[in-house]
Amino acid sequence: MTDLVFPLPTPSVAVKGSSARFPVRRIWCVGRNYAAHAREMGADTREPPFFFSKQPDMITEAANVPYPGLTKDLQHEIELVVALKSGGTDIAPEAAAQHIFGYAVGLDLTRRDLQGEAKKKGHPWEVGKSFEAGAPIGLITPAAEAGDISKGRITLTVNGTLRQQSPIIDLIWSVPEVIAKLSRQVAVGAGDLIYTGTPEGVAAIVKGDVLVGEVTGLEPLKVTIV
Ligand code: MN
Repeated sequence: MTDLVFPLPTPSVAVKGSSARFPVRRIWCVGRNYAAHAREMGADTREPPFFFSKQPDMITEAANVPYPGLTKDLQHEIELVVALKSGGTDIAPEAAAQHIFGYAVGLDLTRRDLQGEAKKKGHPWEVGKSFEAGAPIGLITPAAEAGDISKGRITLTVNGTLRQQSPIIDLIWSVPEVIAKLSRQVAVGAGDLIYTGTPEGVAAIVKGDVLVGEVTGLEPLKVTIV
């Protein structure tokens, strides 16, 4: 082990049925990957998807997620998260599945007001997307246990009321296509998490709200905004 001038923890996520944790290298998010959500954000649904990133230590497994600063419009985006065990560049969609370690339910929390201002100015989205605890995630279920994820549904309730729901098959770009596409932009690799996009129904949340996200075959994600 190489000596470091000071130690840094490796961000990681718990794995279902294992005492070993999944180490996080990078967090990528897909923008506008369900047609109805692209329309609600005022975008053209025929455009190819694009990627933005959050920092690895912005992941959180905590039951209580703090309402972040600067914003008056924090919004939920429930998403299927893909966890990679290997990777490369220019991966063909047909070869993408072999790189998948597992799946989880995640929230791409968004400071929508700040994202909107950034969009207007032609600035990067970081101020709206990248902040402490901005990427809640549930337990990672190994791919073999999760079954055929594309046949499932994704849902989010807030305080027991259904806010977002979609069949996973409605992804504009499927999980293998997302991995293939991202691998042309960067080298994807072990430890990468990809938040695959949110269906329609994104809306504001406030302190005290209880969010429960589910994807068929995966462990649910439950967080309270505090
Ligand atoms: Mn998103």
